[in-house]
Amino acid sequence: MQSLRELRQVSSAENEFAQMRFVVLSGPSGSGKTTIVPLLIQTCPVRLIKSVSATTRAPRPHEVPGEDYHFLSREEFARRRAAGQFLECAEVHSSGNWYGTLKSEVTRARDVGGCALLEIDVQGARQVIEQCPQALTIFVRTPEGEYERRLRARGTESEKVIQSRLETARRELAQAPAYRYQVVNDDLGRAVAEMSQLIQQWERECDD
Ligand code: 5GP
Repeated sequence: MQSLRELRQVSSAENEFAQMRFVVLSGPSGSGKTTIVPLLIQTCPVRLIKSVSATTRAPRPHEVPGEDYHFLSREEFARRRAAGQFLECAEVHSSGNWYGTLKSEVTRARDVGGCALLEIDVQGARQVIEQCPQALTIFVRTPEGEYERRLRARGTESEKVIQSRLETARRELAQAPAYRYQVVNDDLGRAVAEMSQLIQQWERECDD
């Protein structure tokens, strides 16, 4: 297996982002990743800065442009994509909308001495893993069967919708082994502490 240093040397020639430190977090819906992100930012000794994704979907009532997302028209998204401004982007199938991480989000974090934290889907993470093998990728999962239990307990979705959500979750779970680490969110505080440890350990490895 190649060392982190070797991986960095191989990819640095072709990718300016290969040397950059950033953290990628993914997980199926219901894995709690959205709750984890602010807690991790508050508690991790490594300075994490949330990457603000771009999306073509419309803002939800409580969402603030530039804070929750950069809301772009489909045309603007496509223009920026063609101009090579995205580190990764993907059409998230369940919604038909495009989502992506602007390269400027990762450099913005670096320029203030921090480390970008990307909360992105599995398709986007796959692109990052290919281009930036040194990035720390973490897949958050729920304990076996927990997502289905919660979906059914909510009682708001039809069986058809439940089956479709479960199928999406299964597809996403199949990608988990591609991530450097998998963390089970069986207890929020414990999962956040585990991730914080992983991030600190990775920082030390990058420094070596
Ligand atoms: P929502 O519309 O509910 O905010 O997000 C829907 C999905 O888009 C989530 O699964 C989230 O992980 C994914 N997503 C958000 N930002 C990005 C991004 O920058 N890139 C990719 N590939 N997926 C994203």
